[in-house]
Amino acid sequence: MSTEYRFATRCIRAGMGADVHGAARPPIYHSTTFAPAEATAPQSGDDPPPLYTRYGHNPTLYTVERQLATVEAADAALIFSAGMAALSTACLALGRAGVVCVGNAYGGTLDLLTGQLPQLGIATALLAPGEEPGLEALLADGYGLVLVESPTNPDLRVQDLAALAQLAHRYGARLAVDNTFATPVNQQPLALGADLVLHSATKFLGGHSDLTAGAAMGAVDIIAELDAWRRQLGQTPSPETASLLSRSLATLEVRVERQNASALQLAEWLAVHPAVERVHYPGLMTAPDHALAERQMTGYGGMLALDVRGGLSAATAAVERLRLFLDAPSLGGVESLVTQPARTSHAGMSDAERNRRGIGDGQLRLSVGLEDPEDLRQDLEQALERL
Ligand code: PLP
Repeated sequence: MSTEYRFATRCIRAGMGADVHGAARPPIYHSTTFAPAEATAPQSGDDPPPLYTRYGHNPTLYTVERQLATVEAADAALIFSAGMAALSTACLALGRAGVVCVGNAYGGTLDLLTGQLPQLGIATALLAPGEEPGLEALLADGYGLVLVESPTNPDLRVQDLAALAQLAHRYGARLAVDNTFATPVNQQPLALGADLVLHSATKFLGGHSDLTAGAAMGAVDIIAELDAWRRQLGQTPSPETASLLSRSLATLEVRVERQNASALQLAEWLAVHPAVERVHYPGLMTAPDHALAERQMTGYGGMLALDVRGGLSAATAAVERLRLFLDAPSLGGVESLVTQPARTSHAGMSDAERNRRGIGDGQLRLSVGLEDPEDLRQDLEQALERL
């Protein structure tokens, strides 16, 4: 969609073609198959004629893919059946010469790199925080895909995306950024030089904890490489899921702006709480990456982590006392969630590996929702006061 419109307008209007009934929002095409010779609707843009839904050739999927492209200011986008479908497809399409993950990342991503990809003979390397200087040697060795999150899961460190893109490109490699935590409202990796943006759309893009989807955005030729794999692996979501995501993208900016504001407020309050050893949030002036975050992001997101004094048992006790923050995996929805990475997303990791990655036993990760921030603060206060 024309860049004459600003972000929020594009989120709502991108991909919305004229409807025979004048519907304000796009219909859901449940059909698995289409007869192009019978079609009377004018074909829009460069989309192939609707043909078979698994191929992604379905008007409902086209609509949401236009919205997905526009939120990341990309030339092309694909919707997937889950964030892991987007991530694994990206590795298969672009990472056969080797995938290196820099910094902390979602446990499932790390499992893919240490478990499944090596079974296919794909070389993988994980550089824990502090080991970034090892990247250049791996690139010189021929690794073809650098994969990063920023901010990282669960410790909210910020990666220098422009510097990583430059380094990768010097060696003919590509940079893929999992932008799930930041969201495109706060950070635009393609403008910083990344080749591909990936999302668990299950999170902030979906925003209501009622859909599972993934997304990939980038240049037309890169997206075409992923498209071939998506089609063969059958990683296309249902039209119903695509329609739910389309609805969600229309409200992305207002949701994330509220989550940014509430998370910053809570981070500042937690940072001086006696039961809290440390708060991880790039928006805090005291955060180690604050200067980089200020340069690279326009807001700091709805995710934050805190290290509770007293380790695992104190953190577990706090989780049990919380009433508004639900103890559940996932993130980015309207409701606030809490997780204990050492017991959930990173439980599969050895204690030594978790320590190497700076994920303490007393760490709690909060996904700040759209509730009144004062109610959230009071909930945290009553949970922490007896520690
Ligand atoms: N990337 C990040 C940063 C995540 O947190 C997650 C899931 O929690 C994923 C990818 C995987 O997404 P999905 O669960 O939609 O497959």
